[in-house]
Amino acid sequence: MTAQPVSSPSLWPAAHIQDARRPRSQQRQLGASDTVCERRAAYILSGAERTDTSDKRAAILGTYLHEGLLGSARSEYGWLVETAVADDSIRGHVDAVHLDASTAARLPKRLRPTAPADVVTVEDIKTKSTFLWDRVIRYGATAAEIRQAYLYADLLRTVGWLDIHGQKPMARLGPIDVGRIRFRFVNRDNGAEYVQEFPFDKAEATRARWWVQRVMEYESPEEATRSFDGPGLDPICDNCPFRTPCWGEPKTPGVAVQTVLVHDDADRETALSEYVRGHEMEAEGQRIKKKARAKLDDSPAGIYGPNQLRWTGGNPVQEVDREAMIDTFDVLGVPIPEKTGADFQRMEAVMKEAGVAIPMRTAAKKTTRAIRVTAVQR
Ligand code: SF4
Repeated sequence: MTAQPVSSPSLWPAAHIQDARRPRSQQRQLGASDTVCERRAAYILSGAERTDTSDKRAAILGTYLHEGLLGSARSEYGWLVETAVADDSIRGHVDAVHLDASTAARLPKRLRPTAPADVVTVEDIKTKSTFLWDRVIRYGATAAEIRQAYLYADLLRTVGWLDIHGQKPMARLGPIDVGRIRFRFVNRDNGAEYVQEFPFDKAEATRARWWVQRVMEYESPEEATRSFDGPGLDPICDNCPFRTPCWGEPKTPGVAVQTVLVHDDADRETALSEYVRGHEMEAEGQRIKKKARAKLDDSPAGIYGPNQLRWTGGNPVQEVDREAMIDTFDVLGVPIPEKTGADFQRMEAVMKEAGVAIPMRTAAKKTTRAIRVTAVQR
C-alpha cells in the first residue's frame, strides 16, 4: 500500500465532515434510532455535548447504501420513503411505509404505490456486514431494532405523519392503522437481502413507549442503565459520542475503563463470581461443541434443518519429494550439499537458483479439517 499522495487526498475527511452536518448528527431531541442504549438516550435528552468521535467509515457507507436503495424504491416502486413522524416525546424518519389499497386511495395519485400492500406495513432497512450476516439470518432484528421499528409504527398509528412541507397530503390522512412490521436486511458486502416480518403487536409497541418514558423520567443521564459493556468490549460503545462522560477515566492510566465499576471488595467478589460463571459456561459450551463436532466427523456437507454444514481443509498436503530431489542432483551430476547427511534445505535453494523444478509429492498427512456451520437463509 502506498501513502496517500498530497495531490490526491483521502475522501474520508470530506465524508466525515458531511456526515457531521446531517441533521441526525446534530439533533438534541430523542429520535427513534437513538433508543439503542438507555444511557445514550438520556445523554441526548439532557442536551449533553457529544465529546467523543470515532471512525465512521462503515456507518457512512451504510448511509450511502441506504439512501441509494430507498431512492430507487421511491422512483421505481412508488414507495413512501424517509417520511417524518413525531409526537411530544419522540420523532424519527420511517424508511418505508407500504399502504394498503384503501389508504392509498385517499392520497393524490402521484403518492400512491405501484403495488399496494395487503396491510399497512412499516419497513426498516438495515445494512449489515458479512461478519454479522449469520446472526441476522439466525436471530433477525435485535431488541433495540425492534423497539425502534415499533416506535415508528406506533407514531404512525397514534398520530400519523408529521404535518410538514413535502408530506402534507399524507399528514391529512391522520393516524394510520399499521398492520405489519418488516425488516429488510441488506448485506453491504455482497448485496444479499433477507426479510423478516411480523404482525404489529400493540403490547410490544407499549413496551417500546415505556422504554422511552422511563428514559425521560431520569433526572440525570447517570441514573440510566448502561445497556452495553463499554469501550473495548462492545462496538456500540466504541462508536458512542458519549463514551467519556459515560465511563469516565480509569484511576490507573492504561487499564480497562470497566475498572470504574469496581469500588470495593464486594464488587471484586461479584466480578470474580461472574468470571467463574462465564468460565463454567464457556467450558460447558466447549464440551457440547466438541461432542457435536465428533458426531459429525463423518457427515457430508449439506443443509440440515436451519443449518448448513461445510468442511474446510482436509486436503492433501504437498511436500518436497526428497528422494526425487537426490535423483535429480544425480542426473544433473551436481554434488549434493551435506551437513550431517544430505542438506535438503540447501538442495532446495540450489535448485531454485538453477531454475530446476523441485520435485513434490502428496504427503500422507492432510491439511487440518475444520467444520463451518452457518444459518440457512430461507
Ligand atoms: S458508552 Fe455505551 S453504555 Fe455508555 S452511553 Fe454510550 S452506548 Fe451507552
